[in-house]
Amino acid sequence: MSKLRFDVVQDAFKKKALPVATPACRPSKYFGELVFNREKMRKYLDFSTYNELIVCIDGGQPLSREVADRVAEGMKTWAMEQGVTHITHWFQPLTEGTAEKHDSFMEYDGKGGMIEKFDGRSLSQQEPDASSFPSGGIRATFEARGYTAWDPTSPVFIQDDTLCIPTVFISYTGEALDYKTPLKRAIKAVNEAATDICRMFDPKVQKVYSYLGWEQEYFLVDEDLYAARPDLMLTGRTLMGHESSKNQQLDDHYFGAIPTRVAAFMREVEIEGYRHGIPIKTRHNEVAPNQFELAPIYGEANLSNDQNQMIMNLMNNIARKHGFVLLLHEKPFAGINGSGKHNNWSLGTDTGVQLLAPGKDAKSNLQFITFFVNVLMAVQKHNALLKASIATATNAHRLGANEAPPAIISSFLGHAMTSVLRKLLTVPSDTPIEISGKRSKSVGLIEIPEIFIDNTDRNRTSPFAFTGNRFEFRAVGSSANCAEALTTLNAAVADQLREFKTVVDKEMADGKPMNIAVMDVLKPMIADIIDTVCFDGNGYADEWKTEAARRGLDIETCVPRMFLEFTKAETVDMFKRTGVYTLTELEARNEVKWETYTKKVQIEARVMGRMAINHIIPAALAYKSRLLNIITQTKDIYPDNFAEMACTEIELLKKVSDLVVDIRTKVDAMIEARKAANKIEDEYQKALAYYDIAESLFAIRRPIDKLEEVVDNDLWPLPKYRELLFIN
Ligand code: ADP
Ligand code: MG
Repeated sequence: MSKLRFDVVQDAFKKKALPVATPACRPSKYFGELVFNREKMRKYLDFSTYNELIVCIDGGQPLSREVADRVAEGMKTWAMEQGVTHITHWFQPLTEGTAEKHDSFMEYDGKGGMIEKFDGRSLSQQEPDASSFPSGGIRATFEARGYTAWDPTSPVFIQDDTLCIPTVFISYTGEALDYKTPLKRAIKAVNEAATDICRMFDPKVQKVYSYLGWEQEYFLVDEDLYAARPDLMLTGRTLMGHESSKNQQLDDHYFGAIPTRVAAFMREVEIEGYRHGIPIKTRHNEVAPNQFELAPIYGEANLSNDQNQMIMNLMNNIARKHGFVLLLHEKPFAGINGSGKHNNWSLGTDTGVQLLAPGKDAKSNLQFITFFVNVLMAVQKHNALLKASIATATNAHRLGANEAPPAIISSFLGHAMTSVLRKLLTVPSDTPIEISGKRSKSVGLIEIPEIFIDNTDRNRTSPFAFTGNRFEFRAVGSSANCAEALTTLNAAVADQLREFKTVVDKEMADGKPMNIAVMDVLKPMIADIIDTVCFDGNGYADEWKTEAARRGLDIETCVPRMFLEFTKAETVDMFKRTGVYTLTELEARNEVKWETYTKKVQIEARVMGRMAINHIIPAALAYKSRLLNIITQTKDIYPDNFAEMACTEIELLKKVSDLVVDIRTKVDAMIEARKAANKIEDEYQKALAYYDIAESLFAIRRPIDKLEEVVDNDLWPLPKYRELLFIN
């Protein structure tokens, strides 16, 4: 095995970049060629079908069966021209990734032959036997039916030979069993609440969009090295491994030249991404060795989230073609940065106004401040819930570590916006808010510096930072479905906006002009948030934990306990008012979360136990035997002073023996703890027990990593960090 390790490392090092077949034309020519977008709708649907479909897409109306039949016919023609033979409903159950079950177009024609058939019914709805998807008890096994129904706001696309129909996934009784359904409900809620407020400023506004621009971080490892690490293969992260002498301390990887093998992979991801209509914009090396990032141009949240799911699938497949394995785990390697997925989030009107960016005049700036302050208020009220929305067994390794957002949700505003808010508290409510530099200064004016708009200061330690025209929710994990975080955020903001509007309406009914009513209601909110959820300091500092607790922000670090936020009375009410989740759904989803947490840790604990016993201890024993041989031989030759002659060997022998005992004892204790935990029936209590087991894995790891430093390099059975992380 040890020989094999060197061979594997050498082979990996010798690999060269694969050539990538680049299309003959410019990306703008093939962008979206695999998507049934509006251009194709116009080409493949007749005029009235096209119009009826657009009304459904833009207005959220249901599609009639008869129109669905005509749409399906057009789609089929297009798809078959592209060589497609199968269709699938493509949905996002409460597992990681997406689900699909492919059916071919083939049907008997009733005359002894076969034809390709695809009608409105199979486009609109399917009934997958979905009893093995997690439902948290909503769908008892005797009522195993789940329904998938087309979401016409997400365009249909082609993957290889299959036409993929993005769908929601719901139970027989109508409860959401997926990520997409609640996200769509939350987008609707925020649209309604925000539109109501926008109309106070501009009656022409019909719709407010919620936007998402994700930044996907990931690691690549060579597939041969990956295959030699059972922990990476089964858990997505290394459960053991001593830090490499060199890792990210020189900051030489961030924005460095992209290694050629990786560049070839990225190029292919981009080509495939463009063909699938994903507007990929940015690619670069990230902070940790072998860590990279890819980000598109932002878009409507539901679509952009689907595209994130698509790109994760594409990257996975394309990585293998290039001899890599893609790691989306939030913390594949200890001691270096983990991976997140920043969710850049904003709201904008159908009249083209960005609601989280300063505007041109006092009126639009008041609108901006209104949304800005209400978002912060929503984040403050629901800070614990927002944290729960990004909490998973895997993201737990990233949060709170000394590099990622801390496990406390606060918001960074930057100097300019903080001073604007503070100043607003001191001036009369009718003081105009202007952009400075655009007009001569006059006393009493609130000014947003002009340079601010494209030049906000940055604070990388903040989990929810304002970046000029949007908020960056940075705590989201790299493997997550963004919908979980965005559903919570949009719902919380919708609820806050609605409450705000009710109070403002009352003030206006008393005869106050709109601008004064708005500012009068905003002022106490500003006074409240400015020294609570707003925090521009260092989020990694230990003092922040104490200070955050003093401010009443949630500092819980235990993931299973965080989930309790979802079923607290005020949360349930908020989700009920906004129509995003019912109590049944919230309770069911928590069951799934606890169960998933438990299973993840359980798998890690099993892998850890087996690797410790089957890989690590045998390597240590082999080394012990080598040492013992030398010591015996020394004793034969130098019977009188062998202890002195073999002092190093004796010392090493002692060290190795002690570490082996330490590992064995801790593994035994962990196995016992697991046995006890497995007997617990209640999912929450079980997850709590597994939380302790997760902590104990760190304790087992420590002596293993020490052994790695002591045992003969030749005998070490696993590729080491220095080998995994520096192969390009
Ligand atoms: P940085 O690393 O500096 O945060 P990136 O260029 O990596 O910036 O990513 C920024 C992301 O934010 C991109 O996906 C971009 O499209 C997105 N974005 C920009 N403006 C908005 C906005 N108004 N709403 C949502 N996302 C936005
Ligand atoms: Mg970035």
